[in-house]
Amino acid sequence: MASEPSDLAAATRLVGLGRPPRTPGAVINQGVELTSTYVAGGDVVYARSGNPTWTAFEEVLGSLEGGRALAFASGMAAVAASLSLVPHGSVVVAPVHAYNGTGSLLDEASQQGRFELRRVDSADTAAVLAAMRGAQLVWLESPTNPMLEVADLPELLAGAREQGAISVVDNTFATPLLQHPIALGADVVMHSATKFIAGHSDVLLGATVTANEDLQARLFGHRVLHGAIPGPFETWLALRGLRTLQVRLDRSCASAAELARRLGDHPAVGRVRYPGFGAIVSIEVTGGAAAASLVEDAVRIWLPATSLGGVESLIERRRRIPTEPVTVPQELLRLSVGLEDVEDLWRDLDAALRA
Ligand SMILES: *Cc1c(COP(=O)(O)O)cnc(C)c1O
Repeated sequence: MASEPSDLAAATRLVGLGRPPRTPGAVINQGVELTSTYVAGGDVVYARSGNPTWTAFEEVLGSLEGGRALAFASGMAAVAASLSLVPHGSVVVAPVHAYNGTGSLLDEASQQGRFELRRVDSADTAAVLAAMRGAQLVWLESPTNPMLEVADLPELLAGAREQGAISVVDNTFATPLLQHPIALGADVVMHSATKFIAGHSDVLLGATVTANEDLQARLFGHRVLHGAIPGPFETWLALRGLRTLQVRLDRSCASAAELARRLGDHPAVGRVRYPGFGAIVSIEVTGGAAAASLVEDAVRIWLPATSLGGVESLIERRRRIPTEPVTVPQELLRLSVGLEDVEDLWRDLDAALRA
């Protein structure tokens, strides 16, 4: 690119980075590079250590988050790699309402005696700071899934640093456009690129980003030795999705804010959870779990499905998942707002809520 990337807005870097050099006649897109090995004598010798399609994706994401990125086979592979940064017997602090898979993995690790786990309400800053005493790793997710609680990241990340604990922030919900955890003091940012980054509900991919060279080397080592590597085509799809992240997010966030405002006055909605930014809204339906399930059955445009961050709007009663924490209300519906016309989304949801 003509200017230093750091001078350019995120929307420009999303489009311009991760491309082959501008030589006459060259292709302008990084292709899907299919090879398991490389001619000897170069930096990368075998494709479990590196792939040019990964490098292109990592260049874009790393620039946006302010560190060096690594692509993983899924968000959960990136979670597992991040948890590998602390030894057996470590004290780990994590939110009660962390992503379901993260919570299950942490619970399993603690049952096996691998970690001493302290789960806390991440919106209660004093409680999280108190739980950090003697901790080796602090896991944060903000906003949380599906309760949309917001943590005081600068305060908590400073606290983790003071304790000498490694801090990891799952930035999937906010995306690298709305929140920069590394600038706020995080050691590692983790993404499920399956969601907003890839953005089309057609691929699973994960990523870590860190500005710390030692942590980067250890995450890289984990990826190579545990084989948690993404396919080149999956990574290419995520890179293609990343190109349009700004416009998709602008549209989804504007629609989510409008729907949250209207849902606040809806007679069939007891409570709206919306942190004031982002594209996810959770609502509590009056009439309990049965009424919430009827809404899922009645919508015609919203798709009843798990996941989020795609072009299509999704609706899900989270407690249908058996491992969801019992503190998540039975009648809670999580809405992932996509790119459809906001009036169509509203009419569909309003009709389903009234039915
Ligand atoms: C989906 C998700 C994950 C897990 O990512 P996968 O790509 O499904 O493995 C982790 N954290 C959050 C917040 C998620 O939404």
